[in-house]
Amino acid sequence: MVKERLQKVIAHAGVASRRAAEGLILAGKVKVNGQVVTELGTKVDGNDEVMVNGEPVEQEQHEYYLLDKPRGVISSAHDDKGRKTVVDILKNEGVQTRVYPVGRLDYDTTGLLVMTNDGELANRLMHPRFEVDKVYIAKVKGLVSNDEMRLLREGVKIDGKKSQPARTKLLEANQRQKTSVVKLTIHEGHYHQVKKMMEAVGHPVLKLHRESYGPLTLAGLNPGQFRKLKVDEVRALR
Ligand code: URA
Repeated sequence: MVKERLQKVIAHAGVASRRAAEGLILAGKVKVNGQVVTELGTKVDGNDEVMVNGEPVEQEQHEYYLLDKPRGVISSAHDDKGRKTVVDILKNEGVQTRVYPVGRLDYDTTGLLVMTNDGELANRLMHPRFEVDKVYIAKVKGLVSNDEMRLLREGVKIDGKKSQPARTKLLEANQRQKTSVVKLTIHEGHYHQVKKMMEAVGHPVLKLHRESYGPLTLAGLNPGQFRKLKVDEVRALR
């Protein structure tokens, strides 16, 4: 289980604001496993019994999953058209906690999606400033030239704004089919980011797959399968 700072746990439980929780800790009003704790850096998890002013604090249990999203599934909790969602995949396999995807993959995009009920971590991961590297494999129409690869590396204009530079690698150029396979590493996550970047250099995406997300990869999973993240993996995302 992932350990969190005591003041954060108290604030999450709705007992007090984080600042007020710090005050309670310093004032000796907080006990962990029966012992008064006055150290603000103390970390606890769901196995620890936390009491404030003699009242037990209900700890929110965070869960983290890694899903290999198949094609034809929506990356949200609901779909107006009744299509299957990534949340349905976990629910159908008995996951009872309501977890939500961190960011989105398009309906036709496959690959790595993190799902959690830890809203704070999710928001942080989705912020471009957090700079989580996301690696995509895009099969595109046409043969991508060296100049076009350079443009992608420099950043291309999408929706009137220049994208941040991508790391790119041409993995395949199929002269007969006139298609290419490009590996792109980016940390932005705007709507249709990769499709728009490839479109901007004249190569519409035919197929898109997310291979990794920060330190996480899909090793050992097949499309539609998921697993819980290990404590170390969650820590590495923080
Ligand atoms: N970029 C896209 O265009 N689509 C995705 O699903 C992910 C990144």
